[in-house]
Amino acid sequence: MKQLHDAGRGLVGYVVHKGPDHTAEVSGVHKDLTPWRHTIDLVNRECSCKKWQLTGLPCTHALSVIGCFRNLKLEDYVDSYYSVEKFKTAYVGKIPTLTDKTEWEQPEVGYKVWPPILKRAAGSQGQEGSLE
Ligand SMILES: [Zn+2]
Repeated sequence: MKQLHDAGRGLVGYVVHKGPDHTAEVSGVHKDLTPWRHTIDLVNRECSCKKWQLTGLPCTHALSVIGCFRNLKLEDYVDSYYSVEKFKTAYVGKIPTLTDKTEWEQPEVGYKVWPPILKRAAGSQGQEGSLE
Protein backbone atom coordinates (compact mmCIF):
# COMPACT_ATOMS: atom_id res chain seq x y z
CA MET A 1 0.00 0.00 0.00
CA LYS A 2 2.89 2.34 0.75
CA GLN A 3 4.32 1.76 -2.74
CA LEU A 4 0.94 2.57 -4.31
CA HIS A 5 0.48 5.68 -2.18
CA ASP A 6 3.98 6.86 -3.10
CA ALA A 7 3.39 6.12 -6.79
CA GLY A 8 0.15 8.11 -6.67
CA ARG A 9 1.91 11.13 -5.17
CA GLY A 10 4.78 11.17 -7.66
CA LEU A 11 2.69 11.54 -10.81
CA VAL A 12 3.66 14.53 -12.93
CA GLY A 13 1.91 15.65 -16.09
CA TYR A 14 -1.20 13.50 -15.66
CA VAL A 15 -4.31 15.42 -16.69
CA VAL A 16 -7.56 13.90 -15.40
CA HIS A 17 -10.95 14.59 -16.97
CA LYS A 18 -13.71 13.07 -14.91
CA GLY A 19 -16.56 11.37 -16.73
CA PRO A 20 -19.90 10.01 -15.51
CA ASP A 21 -20.21 7.17 -12.97
CA HIS A 22 -16.62 7.22 -11.74
CA THR A 23 -15.10 6.99 -15.20
CA ALA A 24 -12.34 9.29 -16.39
CA GLU A 25 -9.87 10.05 -19.14
CA VAL A 26 -6.26 10.54 -18.17
CA SER A 27 -3.86 12.09 -20.64
CA GLY A 28 -0.31 13.27 -20.87
CA VAL A 29 2.69 13.23 -23.18
CA HIS A 30 5.48 10.68 -23.56
CA LYS A 31 9.13 11.70 -23.30
CA ASP A 32 9.23 12.05 -27.10
CA LEU A 33 6.29 14.46 -26.74
CA THR A 34 3.76 12.15 -28.41
CA PRO A 35 0.43 12.33 -26.57
CA TRP A 36 -1.21 9.45 -24.73
CA ARG A 37 -4.66 9.01 -23.22
CA HIS A 38 -6.28 6.21 -21.25
CA THR A 39 -9.82 5.62 -20.06
CA ILE A 40 -10.48 4.48 -16.49
CA ASP A 41 -13.55 2.86 -14.99
CA LEU A 42 -13.25 2.84 -11.20
CA VAL A 43 -16.43 0.80 -10.65
CA ASN A 44 -15.22 -2.09 -12.81
CA ARG A 45 -11.56 -1.53 -11.91
CA GLU A 46 -10.47 -1.17 -15.53
CA CYS A 47 -7.97 0.96 -17.40
CA SER A 48 -7.45 0.89 -21.15
CA CYS A 49 -3.74 0.22 -20.54
CA LYS A 50 -4.92 -3.18 -19.10
CA LYS A 51 -2.36 -3.17 -16.29
CA TRP A 52 -5.00 -2.84 -13.58
CA GLN A 53 -7.00 -5.81 -14.93
CA LEU A 54 -3.81 -7.84 -15.31
CA THR A 55 -2.25 -7.26 -11.89
CA GLY A 56 -5.16 -6.32 -9.63
CA LEU A 57 -3.16 -3.23 -8.64
CA PRO A 58 -4.28 0.22 -9.84
CA CYS A 59 -1.98 1.51 -12.60
CA THR A 60 -0.62 5.05 -12.47
CA HIS A 61 -3.59 6.23 -14.57
CA ALA A 62 -6.05 4.80 -12.06
CA LEU A 63 -4.03 6.18 -9.15
CA SER A 64 -4.27 9.66 -10.62
CA VAL A 65 -8.06 9.36 -10.89
CA ILE A 66 -8.53 7.85 -7.41
CA GLY A 67 -6.48 10.73 -6.04
CA CYS A 68 -8.94 13.20 -7.55
CA PHE A 69 -11.75 11.92 -5.35
CA ARG A 70 -11.28 12.91 -1.70
CA ASN A 71 -13.82 10.37 -0.46
CA LEU A 72 -12.23 7.34 -2.13
CA LYS A 73 -9.79 5.05 -0.36
CA LEU A 74 -7.02 3.55 -2.45
CA GLU A 75 -7.31 0.31 -0.45
CA ASP A 76 -10.75 -0.27 -1.95
CA TYR A 77 -9.27 -0.47 -5.45
CA VAL A 78 -6.63 -3.11 -4.81
CA ASP A 79 -7.64 -6.70 -5.53
CA SER A 80 -8.40 -8.74 -2.39
CA TYR A 81 -5.75 -11.17 -3.65
CA TYR A 82 -3.19 -8.88 -1.97
CA SER A 83 -4.97 -8.81 1.39
CA VAL A 84 -3.60 -10.28 4.61
CA GLU A 85 -6.88 -12.18 4.89
CA LYS A 86 -6.25 -13.99 1.58
CA PHE A 87 -2.65 -14.68 2.56
CA LYS A 88 -3.81 -16.30 5.80
CA THR A 89 -6.46 -18.29 3.93
CA ALA A 90 -3.81 -19.68 1.59
CA TYR A 91 -1.90 -21.13 4.54
CA VAL A 92 -4.83 -22.17 6.72
CA GLY A 93 -4.51 -25.83 5.69
CA LYS A 94 -2.21 -28.21 7.51
CA ILE A 95 1.00 -29.26 5.79
CA PRO A 96 1.85 -32.86 6.79
CA THR A 97 5.33 -33.67 8.06
CA LEU A 98 7.68 -35.43 5.65
CA THR A 99 10.62 -37.80 6.03
CA ASP A 100 13.94 -37.48 4.22
CA LYS A 101 13.97 -38.43 0.50
CA THR A 102 15.97 -41.59 1.24
CA GLU A 103 13.01 -42.91 3.24
CA TRP A 104 10.52 -42.49 0.39
CA GLU A 105 9.04 -45.54 -1.24
CA GLN A 106 10.42 -46.14 -4.76
CA PRO A 107 7.55 -46.87 -7.17
CA GLU A 108 8.23 -49.40 -9.97
CA VAL A 109 6.72 -47.93 -13.14
CA GLY A 110 8.47 -50.29 -15.60
CA TYR A 111 10.57 -47.62 -17.37
CA LYS A 112 13.10 -44.95 -16.62
CA VAL A 113 12.78 -41.33 -17.65
CA TRP A 114 16.12 -39.98 -18.86
CA PRO A 115 16.97 -36.32 -19.28
CA PRO A 116 16.52 -34.98 -22.86
CA ILE A 117 19.43 -35.24 -25.31
CA LEU A 118 20.74 -31.73 -25.95
CA LYS A 119 22.10 -30.78 -29.37
CA ARG A 120 23.44 -27.51 -30.59
CA ALA A 121 20.88 -25.82 -32.87
CA ALA A 122 22.04 -24.66 -36.31
CA GLY A 123 23.23 -21.08 -36.32
CA SER A 124 23.45 -20.69 -32.58
CA GLN A 125 27.16 -21.13 -31.95
CA GLY A 126 28.39 -20.28 -28.53
CA GLN A 127 25.04 -20.73 -26.85
CA GLU A 128 23.69 -23.46 -24.66
CA GLY A 129 22.34 -26.56 -26.40
CA SER A 130 18.66 -26.62 -27.21
CA LEU A 131 16.04 -29.32 -27.44
CA GLU A 132 15.36 -30.92 -30.80
ZN1 LIG B 1 -3.63 2.41 -16.88
